[in-house]
Amino acid sequence: MPDLIQTADIAVAAPIDKSLTYAIPGEFSTIAQVGVRVRVPLGRRTATGYILSRGTGSPKGLKPIQDVLDSAPLFSEAWGNDLRRAAAYYRFPIGDVLRTALPAGLSGAGHDISPLRERLYQTTDQSGSVRGKKQQEILAYIRKNGPVAMTELRDHFTAPHSVLNRLVETGFLTATVQERIRDPFRDSLPPADKIVIPGEEQAVAINRLLQEFDKNSFSCALLHGVTGSGKTEIYLRLIEAVLANNKQALVLVPEIALTPQLVGRFRARFSDRGVSIAVLHSGLSDGERYDAWRSIMRNEIQIVIGARSAVFAPLPNLGVIVVDEEHETSYKQAEGFRYNARDFALLRGQSTSALVVLGSATPSPAVYKRAQDGDYLYLRLSGRVAKRPLPPVSLIDLREAEVDGHFSSELLLALGETLQAGDQSLLLLNRRGFSPYLICAGCGTSPRCPNCAITLTYYQGQRQLRCNYCDYSERPSVLCPKCNGPDLLPEGVGTEQLESELATRFPAARIARMDRDTTGRKGSHQRLVQQVLDKEIDILVGTQMVAKGHDFPGVTLVGVLDADNSLNFPDFRSAERTFSLLSQVAGRAGRGEKPGRVLVQTYSPDHYALQSAATHDYAGFYAEEIPFRESLGYPPFGYLINLVFSGNDADKVAHTATNVASILNRVAQDAEVLGPAPCPLARLRGKTRFQILLKGEKRLPLHRMLQHITGKASPIPAGVRMIVDIDPIDML
Ligand code: ADP
Ligand code: ZN
Repeated sequence: MPDLIQTADIAVAAPIDKSLTYAIPGEFSTIAQVGVRVRVPLGRRTATGYILSRGTGSPKGLKPIQDVLDSAPLFSEAWGNDLRRAAAYYRFPIGDVLRTALPAGLSGAGHDISPLRERLYQTTDQSGSVRGKKQQEILAYIRKNGPVAMTELRDHFTAPHSVLNRLVETGFLTATVQERIRDPFRDSLPPADKIVIPGEEQAVAINRLLQEFDKNSFSCALLHGVTGSGKTEIYLRLIEAVLANNKQALVLVPEIALTPQLVGRFRARFSDRGVSIAVLHSGLSDGERYDAWRSIMRNEIQIVIGARSAVFAPLPNLGVIVVDEEHETSYKQAEGFRYNARDFALLRGQSTSALVVLGSATPSPAVYKRAQDGDYLYLRLSGRVAKRPLPPVSLIDLREAEVDGHFSSELLLALGETLQAGDQSLLLLNRRGFSPYLICAGCGTSPRCPNCAITLTYYQGQRQLRCNYCDYSERPSVLCPKCNGPDLLPEGVGTEQLESELATRFPAARIARMDRDTTGRKGSHQRLVQQVLDKEIDILVGTQMVAKGHDFPGVTLVGVLDADNSLNFPDFRSAERTFSLLSQVAGRAGRGEKPGRVLVQTYSPDHYALQSAATHDYAGFYAEEIPFRESLGYPPFGYLINLVFSGNDADKVAHTATNVASILNRVAQDAEVLGPAPCPLARLRGKTRFQILLKGEKRLPLHRMLQHITGKASPIPAGVRMIVDIDPIDML
């Protein structure tokens, strides 16, 4: 029997499905720990890899690790195992999965982040006085303030270098070099905490969650609370108990934009108790994320808050994971490693025996069903805090209403009254730009994106036509590009137009717009939110961004311009999305002392999604929605996998999709193969797109079918790309 050697399972940063095994040369045997990055040979080149686990094996055929890049692990073995499971489930190369999960700057690509160091000065026990005014001042300052960093001294004294050196030479000071954590809160004070007494339903929910947590094993709870029911207070109280048990908490929010508000409330509650909170999201600088990550690994952090990717935070001793607004589609990554952070949170909860709390006013049907089936603990908050009423919602039938411009007379009247009363209004219109397209009155032509199969959105302020999917833009021509007719006119309404229409109607009102075009710059979204809170804005117009999560106590009127927009989407979830969007935006009204009201303009006032949103009736919505899902085998009654084929050569893409569909049809068992068909967005960024949808009652048969078209069996020719989207959300 040959001698056994030490080996390592390594996720190599390359498109390879599985981890690879390498030999650990003797000199690396102590430092090649699980969780460090290494350089390994791969074919004729070298690549970066991550050690997932270690073992022993025969040296036969094993190549050696060439170098070890980290002195401390970036993750634990258990964490790596969770990612292995996710990689297998989402059929994405394990190395690329790790690259997505780890903070940027650790790719080994050359521009890596390293720790930031700073010099600290500290007094010695040498007493006596020094000569020179500057020496005296600096020494006095350090004696008073304890160890002081160079950066701080530079803020207080001009050019302190030589004086400091002198004080070190004469033995009055010592200097040490330490790491300085890049902390985005370093210089800001936490806001004041709000002491609240939990209401009855809140108290019940808190107690049940504490009981669950005490079991020290995995379980999941759905916290189903209407908007403004005080879910955050429940998270705060639960997390207090978790920390008291020396465990840690992870809190996920659906959008980066919502982190500052929540972080503020957590800091207000915890920061004077010596609790360290880290924020992890893609809006941080690479250095900040890298530092936060390593602080978490060193067990210095008790609470991590962040958007989707924070679910990968390597907290060593997790007690609870909160997924706020669990129904939000932004938890699903739309490209690359297409994971769903809510689902991964459940997987991590299982592997770490943590409690997972899913919070929502409008739970996704899948989660609600599991709670109904008894798999999850179901906790209901049926009313708002302090007995504040939910706002009444009126549906305005646009087929019959008196309409002036884009406003029904009812909505105009309500806007006027709200302004008069000195209160704030929020208007939702889920379309950006001035109008969604231009159209020639003579021949009906609309300018389209040359790269994508959609019309170009018209922006009047910048006199531009822009594609909402790629970065294409052009100046609109005066004459129709096709028939040279003189009437190329804007058709339909977007937020930009609404904003200017309001300015004409209410010249005294302070109006602002919140959409992707006005919040592109760093901090601009936060500024708008602050202006609304400070009552510097009377009417806020925006896309679905305005609907999400904000707590604006001064808003008493919410208007929805066009509720049918999302209802008419070619997607089986369109009713769910409409219901949830309307419930969320309605939830922005009347959160403060004054009651609110909601006006919804629509052409389909009888649709159950609108009817049940108007009566704040989740159960009613669910009861209507579920038979339709069941009869068609859609989630939560079945599973989906979407295969998207794309490429420059339209015929080749179509042919490949047809070929794959016939292979799948041949091997299909307990599964349906739908398509191939052109994607709703049949052309995107110059590429032709086709899709095949796999549908089945169980997961496993669908995954088995994929084995016939991926890996070695892949029939995908060069020039065509196939994307495998497991549990797809966006199927455009
Ligand atoms: P949700 O997340 O359910 O929409 P929030 O947690 O944001 O609701 O709570 C809404 C507001 O009510 C917050 O300003 C919060 O501080 C306040 N609040 C929460 N619980 C109570 C309570 N028991 N009594 C009074 N105010 C409360
Ligand atoms: Zn385009």
